[in-house]
Amino acid sequence: MSWSDRDQAILWHPYTQMKTADPPLTIVRGNGCSLFTEEGRCLLDGISSWWVNLHGHSHPQIVLRVSQQLALLEHVLFAGFTHPSAVELAEEILKTLPANQANVFYSDNGSTSVEIALKMALQFWRNCGVHQKVRIVGLEGGYHGDTLGAMSVSGRSVFTVPFEPYLFPVDRIPAPLQGQEERSIQSLQKLLETGTVAAFIFEPLVQGAGGMRFLSRDALSLEIALCRDHQVLSIADEVMTGFFRTGKFWACDSLGHKPDLICISKGLSGGTTPLAMTTCTSAIFDGFLSDDRSKALLHGHSFTANPVGCAAGLASLQLLQSAECQSSIQLLANSHQAFVRQIQQEFPMLQNPRALGTLFAVEFPTSDQGYLDEIGPRLYRHFLHQGVILRPLGNTVYVLPPYCVTVEELDCFYEAIRSAARRFCTNNP
Ligand code: PMP
Repeated sequence: MSWSDRDQAILWHPYTQMKTADPPLTIVRGNGCSLFTEEGRCLLDGISSWWVNLHGHSHPQIVLRVSQQLALLEHVLFAGFTHPSAVELAEEILKTLPANQANVFYSDNGSTSVEIALKMALQFWRNCGVHQKVRIVGLEGGYHGDTLGAMSVSGRSVFTVPFEPYLFPVDRIPAPLQGQEERSIQSLQKLLETGTVAAFIFEPLVQGAGGMRFLSRDALSLEIALCRDHQVLSIADEVMTGFFRTGKFWACDSLGHKPDLICISKGLSGGTTPLAMTTCTSAIFDGFLSDDRSKALLHGHSFTANPVGCAAGLASLQLLQSAECQSSIQLLANSHQAFVRQIQQEFPMLQNPRALGTLFAVEFPTSDQGYLDEIGPRLYRHFLHQGVILRPLGNTVYVLPPYCVTVEELDCFYEAIRSAARRFCTNNP
């Protein structure tokens, strides 16, 4: 039996209708942007394996540091103990974050980093004796993860329908998309005036899983400032946007006002192992200091600050800050901008081609446009056939590759999109 057959006998895959899905492809090796199947076929990873990989698969420098860490210490519980890699990574990340970020709480995936930010915000007000601040405001079309709290603050969709009765109530305002800024700001203003809002959560600059929707930086900045004026905490979910995905180290670097809490994961370990952080201001951290032990943040995970992940993170940061990686990021950003201009001319039927930093996105025309739209799987299969992994979000096709991507590899992604446009956007399916 093949690996794929053995998989199908017992495994259950994420976001997958197991009855109708194609058998999974077995990947046995990775190198740079390339993933190799057991038959030796090469597939180019154009989406960084769900946006986690920064420097290419199995990067030797990360492998080396991880192996050294493994030989020294694989894991230790993080209550009452610490280890050098956790301290060093937290110090290094804090140096890159907005200056108001002072403390780091580790966890192990994007959803948990969001859960922790929400719990920090809610308990902060309670610890301060402010009992009326209990509500969370989120953006329509936002996505913050699949655990119940993270789902609660995300937009409502086919993902959340079965769990509706169990999600806590959240006030959702229109996302500050172009042309919708005023409506978004006014809705927030109205909610803030109730005095019951604890925190406002948003994805800075880009709503990722919601369809790579670009948000107005001015409106978002203003919304953070409004929150501050009303003594409401703001939470930036940088799980997707961090580590230069939007061109700057953090998407928040493009905002005039800075959030109180930041959620970080995916690229934190260079995409090597599950790792996450929630960072906060010293004012929030201080709100948990007390002689009363019940005022502590009574939250944790078995693999909090796993040393292997932290070691991978340190190696990844070093690579990220190298001149070579920085020039690759610039090259990638410039290529995407040029491709936007080209595709606008070549395929005017494609909707809203756009680029921001290392992200390119475009919509394929369709009558439906939901996540379950059949155009998504059809495009996905077409891309696989072309040797590239581009996994559309509904009818949104995007390219977000590791930074080691070569010009030739980028061309493969662009060519695959062109061929899909020729196939799916004419009368010749
Ligand atoms: N927040 C954002 C903005 C995300 O894009 C994601 C995942 N795509 C998450 C949170 C959840 O992260 P994870 O899948 O690691 O739980």
